[in-house]
Amino acid sequence: KESRDEKFQRQHMDPNTSPVTSSYCNEMMKRRSMTVGRCKPVNTFIHEPLPDVQAVCFQGNVPCKNGQPNCYQSSSKMRITDCRLKKGSKYPKCDYQTQQLQKSIIVACEGNPYVPVHFDGSV
Ligand code: ADP
Repeated sequence: KESRDEKFQRQHMDPNTSPVTSSYCNEMMKRRSMTVGRCKPVNTFIHEPLPDVQAVCFQGNVPCKNGQPNCYQSSSKMRITDCRLKKGSKYPKCDYQTQQLQKSIIVACEGNPYVPVHFDGSV
């Protein structure tokens, strides 16, 4: 079975991106199985090396959106792509807007080793 950190990597990690095009989210959301059963409404991909993203678990502690205390904000901005389902897009035709950004990321971490398991947002 897929572990929570494997799920985080599937849903959020894309270190070696060729130039991000307008079809990036449509292709990646499908390729990473986030359009199975329903269209996942919002999802962020991170274009940085995995060790740099794992290191965020040891950077600034911030409260999570759900009130849990296990979220961490990256001390550096990271290259990310936000995917957002377009208005009117209906399953199974998941049509996404692709937006490239440079922001600090906030992840929730769990386990031993202590690794990212959830993407909480970007600031
Ligand atoms: P994502 O939220 O990264 O898009 P999922 O919702 O599929 O991905 O998975 C998030 C996982 O992270 C769940 O297994 C959830 O229990 C876990 N988790 C751990 N800490 C938190 C937290 N503070 N907030 C939200 N989810 C968390």
